[in-house]
Amino acid sequence: MNLARKDIEHIWHPCSQMKDYEELPPIIIDHAQGIYLYDIYGNRYADVVSSWWCNLLGHCNRRINNAVKKQLDQLEHVIFANFSHRPAIELCERLTGILPAGLTKFFFTDNGSSAVEAALKMSFQYHHQTGSPQKTRFMALSDAYHGETVGALSVSGVDLYSQMYKPLLLDIIRVDGPDCYRCRYGKHRESCNAECFLAAEQAFAEHAHEVCAFIAEPLVQAAAGMKMYPPAYLRKLRQACDHYQVHLIADEIATGFGRTGSMFACDQAGISPDMLCLSKGLTGGYMPMALVVTTQTLYDAFYDDYSAGKAFLHSHTYSGNPLACAAANAVLSIMQEEKILEKANENAGYFHRLVHETLSSHPHVGDIRSTGLINAIELVADRSGKKSFSAKQRIGYQIYKKALKKGVLLRPLGDVLYFNPPLVINRGEMDFVVSVCHECLQEVLG
Ligand code: PMP
Repeated sequence: MNLARKDIEHIWHPCSQMKDYEELPPIIIDHAQGIYLYDIYGNRYADVVSSWWCNLLGHCNRRINNAVKKQLDQLEHVIFANFSHRPAIELCERLTGILPAGLTKFFFTDNGSSAVEAALKMSFQYHHQTGSPQKTRFMALSDAYHGETVGALSVSGVDLYSQMYKPLLLDIIRVDGPDCYRCRYGKHRESCNAECFLAAEQAFAEHAHEVCAFIAEPLVQAAAGMKMYPPAYLRKLRQACDHYQVHLIADEIATGFGRTGSMFACDQAGISPDMLCLSKGLTGGYMPMALVVTTQTLYDAFYDDYSAGKAFLHSHTYSGNPLACAAANAVLSIMQEEKILEKANENAGYFHRLVHETLSSHPHVGDIRSTGLINAIELVADRSGKKSFSAKQRIGYQIYKKALKKGVLLRPLGDVLYFNPPLVINRGEMDFVVSVCHECLQEVLG
């Protein structure tokens, strides 16, 4: 039996209707280098989605590989309660220097969803321990995505993933978020003053007394289809959170480490959240590790004699895994020494222009949105009415299948095609992936 058949026999893949795998068998990857994955038959795929937005500096990056190999012979893992190790300490010290101001206390978890869970619990407990036990609810934006575990899914607002589980989920306060392509105020993302923040203002006025935290993905709502909104919205959100004593949790799991053109998306708004969630690019996409980084003020509310019962008794087995920390330290060294972000930003303009010039005239391209190296193309049935295709047509999926045959892993979000490649992608590679995208678009939609 070949490997693909054995795979289907044993494995239940994430975010998949397994019946689709009968028609599109799993692609068995043998090895990878740079932006390319190579399957067992020698076919090559350009990983322009960074393997779910986590690969930052190319696959099998020599320096990260060496750092992990070195760490492996030193210490693979150790319990992180009462014990610690050099790679974790070094990582936190280094991150403190580049994170938004005031974020100085690091709590480790082992994936993005678990970081979100920890942040939600921390905020709830903080208010309980500082005289506001009535603050028990969370606010979040429409079209948010914060993960799949029950708390994280509760604050998420993409029905495709959460509708089924609604009876299980927390009762959160959903705020109509920015929708720049279909702006209710007829404004443009580049020049507006986040007029749409009004909906959040109203929700704060009505509910803030019972709310412990507002969670948001700064600047890019990735899973919603790389929906982008302006820094002005974040500034208003920070002000409102301050005014109403509500924590701001910035979920930079997808946007952190240069994806939006700055090290962190919050930097573009000049704000610091009360809690920042990081994962994915943190380890260069090598290992499952995540962080909740918070402030001294928040930390102090948990600091007391053990008998006071104020400790944050939350743990994950693989908290602070040394191999993941070694990868993360290598990522920071490479980013700095090889001027990765500067170079990515030099190429970003080229990539934006290329995507626009190649794709914008297609009659079914409704919107092209870009930030950093992220370029998203929203396909619509009717351009003038900005009307979506019926989900049943699976337009994005058809394009995905065609692109795979031509060597590009372009896994759309519904009918939003997007590029979110490793930051090290070069211009020749950009030319190749955009031209494949164009060909596939024409083959499917004419
Ligand atoms: N938050 C955001 C913004 C994400 O994009 C993701 C993952 N796509 C998560 C949380 C969840 O992370 P994980 O898949 O590691 O649980």
